[in-house]
Amino acid sequence: MGVYNRAPLAFERGRGVRLYGDDGRDYLDCVAGIAVNGLGHCHPRLVKTLEEQAEKLWHVSNIYRIPDQEALAARLCAATFAEEVFFTNSGTEAVELALKVARRHQAAKGAPERIDVITFEGAFHGRTYAAVTAGGNETYLEGFGPRLPGYIHLPFGDMDALKAAVGPTTAAIMIEPVQGEGGARAVSDADLRLMRQLCDEQGALLMFDEIQCGMGRTGKLFAYEWSGVVPDVMCVAKALGGGFPVGALLATHHAAGAMKVGAHGSTYGGNPLAMAVALAAFDEIAKPELLDHVNQVSGYLGQQLAGLKDRYPDVVEEIRGKGLLIGLKLKPNNRDFMAQARENQLLIAGGGDNCVRLLPPLILTQDEAREAVEKLEKTCEDTRAKAAS
Ligand SMILES: *Cc1c(COP(=O)(O)O)cnc(C)c1O
Repeated sequence: MGVYNRAPLAFERGRGVRLYGDDGRDYLDCVAGIAVNGLGHCHPRLVKTLEEQAEKLWHVSNIYRIPDQEALAARLCAATFAEEVFFTNSGTEAVELALKVARRHQAAKGAPERIDVITFEGAFHGRTYAAVTAGGNETYLEGFGPRLPGYIHLPFGDMDALKAAVGPTTAAIMIEPVQGEGGARAVSDADLRLMRQLCDEQGALLMFDEIQCGMGRTGKLFAYEWSGVVPDVMCVAKALGGGFPVGALLATHHAAGAMKVGAHGSTYGGNPLAMAVALAAFDEIAKPELLDHVNQVSGYLGQQLAGLKDRYPDVVEEIRGKGLLIGLKLKPNNRDFMAQARENQLLIAGGGDNCVRLLPPLILTQDEAREAVEKLEKTCEDTRAKAAS
């Protein structure tokens, strides 16, 4: 189906931060499968775990206990605010469940009229029906019939609009603490605090979508830790499985208590193969040394990119994001810039607001970070030369 705008390039193999193309060239991968390959390509522990599990057991069903699922849920709860976890195969399924949890929570409290979920401009929450409605991006909604009722979109950062919108029909506020697809925009701690306060006052749930910004990406295991604002519900996916498709919904008992037997389910979600790999990926990413490393290397990149912006004000308008979720808002077209970077053997992702994003594996070394900056510098130089010709 012609839904992808694909680059004319395929890869034969990957190792760490390096991808090897079928054009015979190697590339520095600062996309990491859109923040999925947090540990890079073919991490030895993940390869070994996958191979060992493949010989033991792939799939049973959630009608049985799955010990690694219980172990990973326990790890996630110990590391966060959460008391309950549900495993999915993707991010959008976790979002879909969050939206169901919010309404079920309100209905069980005796407030079934509370169905509205408030989201923000620039949000991305996935591609299933409720998730695209929640995201509110017109391009993703056009031609798909009537919108689902109960979704309210507000301008990013407009806290007056939020105060006016939260009321007796609000079920939840949902937000990415650092927007990903929207162009690496971090929400201020003050705004997150206000959201928490409004939810508490009004009896609404605060739901964070950390599918992209979670799992070490910002230098903490989860981005919400920077603000100290704790949600009731959180969606996780992408780096959770290190490349194996897996997502999760994390919640407090209070938020998810109404999800009784039969209220939800999944055939594949949390199967033994997925859980073995995700458990290994979690244990690697949650290591304090790795999170320290993310902070060091992202600090270095931040300094270097500030210099780049100063040298190329005609190309780079703004550097934004948090940790290794980095956005460069550009003056020239972002798609052209990505293609030029690819020519220079650097892979970067696009983003809203004419941004390009750097989402390298969290294991990116300082030398590799320097190489990325050199390749970006060359790309700025090439872009400038093209504009002049
Ligand atoms: C990628 C993403 C999703 C959707 O995840 P899929 O696995 O593609 O369904 C949802 N929310 C955010 C913030 C994302 O980055």
